[in-house]
Amino acid sequence: MKTALIYHPIFLQHDTGPHHPERASRLQSILRKLKKSGIIDGLALIEPQQASVDDIALVHPKDYVMGIQKACAAGHGSLDPDTMVSKDSYEAALFAAGAMKTAADLVFGGEADNAFCMVRPPGHHARPAQAMGFCLFNNVAIAARYIQDRHKLNRILIVDWDVHHGNGTEEIFYNDPSVFYISLHQYPHYPGTGSKESRGAGKGEGFNLNIPMPAGSGDTDYIKAFQEIALPAINDFKPEFILISAGFDGHKDDPLSSVNLTESGYHEMTRILKAAAQTNCKNRIISVLEGGYNLLSLANSTHSHLKALLA
Ligand SMILES: [Zn+2]
Repeated sequence: MKTALIYHPIFLQHDTGPHHPERASRLQSILRKLKKSGIIDGLALIEPQQASVDDIALVHPKDYVMGIQKACAAGHGSLDPDTMVSKDSYEAALFAAGAMKTAADLVFGGEADNAFCMVRPPGHHARPAQAMGFCLFNNVAIAARYIQDRHKLNRILIVDWDVHHGNGTEEIFYNDPSVFYISLHQYPHYPGTGSKESRGAGKGEGFNLNIPMPAGSGDTDYIKAFQEIALPAINDFKPEFILISAGFDGHKDDPLSSVNLTESGYHEMTRILKAAAQTNCKNRIISVLEGGYNLLSLANSTHSHLKALLA
């Protein structure tokens, strides 16, 4: 029983072009750190399965999926001003979504205690039929639907601490009380969504919790928000599986934000959610990489996250 690290070398083939912050060296930097620190020896390193088009279609219309395939087959190009694809991006995106399936199956089957999916492209900005913010398919949303569909669970919790609001994830589950989306993010900031007033709609009202954090917030502010706002809501919801959208771009050294989290903040947030998984759902918790653009702080923060998952 241990922590699984789900990774496939295809993730390095998703080529976003020169000078793009969401680049292959992000994962190479994390891998170097995990090897150098020795933590990798305590992890179960597992290659993911590829998600099928039907899996992706749990969240995205099939003609959108086919459109992404076509855009990638055409070679290097952009889907919006930020979101680039290359020949291998479609396959990488299928494996990125598949990694969360693999992680869920391992944890559900008792073959791992928990798991971290070290993937790219990231997912939380992907809307049902629109790629944006470096994201093609919404990996965490597909995982939530997959777990409901395959493992017959009802209440899924997604906690998103990437510094940007996960507008895609929020939109996908906005009317759905079975998937509770909680996001802590710098606000106001890209992509502009994520106000406190967006609480879900219809049957989903009350199952979308945005916790906007002002620029300059640090570890203490985040931990306080977790303990005073997020944690009571989580325990009320009683999730049956916890998913983390783990972006590390809220680090104080990250070039894309003005939030001042450190490695120890990520360690503590992980610890809190792991404890919530123990209280509510037989320790079932998996996480997936979203952002994080300073190579050093990304590697060190991921290391802290894994240390807390392993503990
Ligand atoms: Zn981000």
